Amino acid sequence: MSDVAFAVDLGGTNVRGAIVTRDGEIQHYRTARTAVRGGVYAIIDQIVGLAEDAFDEHGERPETGVGVVAPGPLEPKAGIVRFAPNLPGWENVPLKRLLEERLNIPVVLGNDGNCAALGESMFGAGRNVDNLIYLALGTGLGAGIIHQGQLIEGIAGLGGEVGHISVDGNGPRCTCGAVGCMEAYIGGWAIARHGELAAHSERSAMIREIAGEGRITAEVVADAALEGDRAAIDIFARGGRALAVGIGGLVNVFNPELIVIGGGLARAGDLIMEPFRSSLPNYCMLPAYQHVAIVPSALETNTGLYGAAANVFYQQPNEQTGM
Ligand SMILES: [Zn+2]
Repeated sequence: MSDVAFAVDLGGTNVRGAIVTRDGEIQHYRTARTAVRGGVYAIIDQIVGLAEDAFDEHGERPETGVGVVAPGPLEPKAGIVRFAPNLPGWENVPLKRLLEERLNIPVVLGNDGNCAALGESMFGAGRNVDNLIYLALGTGLGAGIIHQGQLIEGIAGLGGEVGHISVDGNGPRCTCGAVGCMEAYIGGWAIARHGELAAHSERSAMIREIAGEGRITAEVVADAALEGDRAAIDIFARGGRALAVGIGGLVNVFNPELIVIGGGLARAGDLIMEPFRSSLPNYCMLPAYQHVAIVPSALETNTGLYGAAANVFYQQPNEQTGM
């Protein structure tokens, strides 16, 4: 039996699938524009089509399993997608069961942050590292924690939701309903919202000017900051500090070796990372701080595929190597 997994990434505007070997080689990559208008079953058909096509080309079925990574709230252990921000109409979809019925191979479902943490630890910046925190700076703040080689999952697989740690009891309201979450400072949607407030209160003429007739997005705020706009720079600096407050607590709790930073907004680079790095020592104990390195993701655009495959291998360790 070949030791490969079939990985599916439902996170973007395309469904992506590939066979991934246990040593991290991506083979028989397939992609198709997500059939969002067709509803749940159209997308299931797409996944099955990409999979069968890749299996044919590969010459055998990946009996080890199929891993699916999806954004948004889901119940990994039950294999249910509660809601998917990029897939309209997806509510309480029993994706694991539906795919297993069609493919006759075990399917594991994981959220993007937890899978990415596994992917980085197996194939990326955290190879041979047993203690790491992964952060994805994107529209939200995705995350996953690997502690002593184990993914922090909790009773229902909902653990590791680092982005929704509140760092200010009087802070801004988050999309999750809580107050003062790190995501409400540093998520792309939050950066955009703080940018809108700065533009409307006339603290920043440049944000309004760069946005023109268009929407104020996190990218617009980043462009304004890179042009030297004080209000925009402050939005990122405040986000970087909020991140340091929450991550400082985790550094004390888990004593990690690595913090791996990925996600699209990581391109805002020093705007966030400089205030994050410089304020982190204020929010954790010095000996724990001295052990942690902050590094960029090594998986980038293939984070979803690697994460989905890593989740399969994590759930089914290789008996010879234990990996
Ligand atoms: Zn929240």
